[in-house]
Amino acid sequence: MTRHIVAADHIIIGFDEGGAAQIVADGAILIDGDQIVEIGPARALRKAHPGLPETGGKGRVAIPGLINAHHHVGLTPFQMGARDQPLELWFPERLAMRHVAPRLDTLYAAFEMIASGVTTVQHLHSRAPGNTDAVLARADTIIGAYKDLGMRASYSFALRDQNRMIYAADEEFIASLPAALQKPTADYLAGFGLSLSDQIAVFHALRARWQDDALVGIQIAPSNLHWLSDAALESAARMAEETGAPMHMHLLETPYQKEYARRRTGGSALEHIDSFGLVGPQLTIGHGVWMTPDDVALLAERGGCLCHNCSSNLRLKSGTADLNGFLASGVPVALGIDEAGINDDRDMLQEMRLALTLHRPAGHDAPHPTASQILLMATEHGAATTPFAGRIGCLAPGRLADIVLLDWQAVTKPWQDPAMPLVDVLIRRAKSGAVATVLIGGNVVYNEGRFTNIDREQVLEEIERDLARPCSEAEVSMQRLSRDLIEPVSRFYEGWLGQGAGR
Ligand SMILES: [Zn+2]
Repeated sequence: MTRHIVAADHIIIGFDEGGAAQIVADGAILIDGDQIVEIGPARALRKAHPGLPETGGKGRVAIPGLINAHHHVGLTPFQMGARDQPLELWFPERLAMRHVAPRLDTLYAAFEMIASGVTTVQHLHSRAPGNTDAVLARADTIIGAYKDLGMRASYSFALRDQNRMIYAADEEFIASLPAALQKPTADYLAGFGLSLSDQIAVFHALRARWQDDALVGIQIAPSNLHWLSDAALESAARMAEETGAPMHMHLLETPYQKEYARRRTGGSALEHIDSFGLVGPQLTIGHGVWMTPDDVALLAERGGCLCHNCSSNLRLKSGTADLNGFLASGVPVALGIDEAGINDDRDMLQEMRLALTLHRPAGHDAPHPTASQILLMATEHGAATTPFAGRIGCLAPGRLADIVLLDWQAVTKPWQDPAMPLVDVLIRRAKSGAVATVLIGGNVVYNEGRFTNIDREQVLEEIERDLARPCSEAEVSMQRLSRDLIEPVSRFYEGWLGQGAGR
């Protein structure tokens, strides 16, 4: 299907300078290959281009494909045996997670994302054991799974060269443990020993491999201040400068990370990374819950972006980000589901609704996000944090044809006052069951509950079969290690939030 038309009762094409939604009524989109050629009244478009196949039509509302700007894994940590914990305790907790084949894992979350209107995922790959070849093979499997499904993916393999379990050196942590725990912990950490130069080589190899693929982009992900030596921060800045690739960096997710930055640098984490030239239009800060107003102002001045991970901040007890402050600063704010939303799934419509609702502080004059701001976060601003910036995020001639069609009756049944603005109804009421059709790069990848390219039921059965086996010896020993490490890790942070720390 090279040239075809997508039609809908209303098409939300994007937002004007003032942030108002631009809507075409009784509209149609002419698509050629993977791009949008023309948008206009359906009647005129059909007349000018007669006989073209059509998707959508009456009863549909079209929106730009949503962007989940912060994602890590497929089956959720909770599903795989890791309880929700404060972030720092969650690192050892996660050792208890079962293992599943990376392809199945990737597809599992991708199904959920597409079914809730996500067309582009920012896949931040945090941990992969083994040597360069093993890491590259895993990356190719993950990227390949998205491609087979027809989903657009911005992939990054996180740079991380220190402090793998606590906010101090691995050697210090190992030495602090009872003798019986020292060897298994050292063995576990040694599995993630890829040198900084090897990690950089992974980035360049992936870029070279995928550079001509319209569905794939490769990013840089300096993981977080505590995980990076100054040498690694310097390398990340150099990589960004040499390649122009965007960067996504977790920062100031918890009050402990703020305190870590104070202990390491004497000041703010953002100021520290700024001293290496990392803070600029290429950088997106993931979380940023504990950024000060000065940090936000610095990020705005440098032209960087933020990614708000609403569910994750709640589930991992990280705190509530000052979304209203972020929005007022003018920094483009994207939206990410992170490891899992509040229903332990990857439902972008729900995440949007949560962000809309959580940040409504008391007081008649207190600021709160509007539905349009939330949709902008999940579309144009999300796009700005990916290598596809300027090509996705809104519907316009020349942009990639990533389009979601909603069954508006399913959104509004049995009644919705028609005076309520369309975008408000979308954010407040639309559930994933109303997502009728999803096009990515002009291709229908999901329609009426079925994926075009991969059989979802078959993949879910494979996952069930795979995980129904008894735990392997390796899984059992990691579960034991996880249990044993929680207490020593917890002890390390005692007193960290005393005087001078926190907000
Ligand atoms: Zn994350």
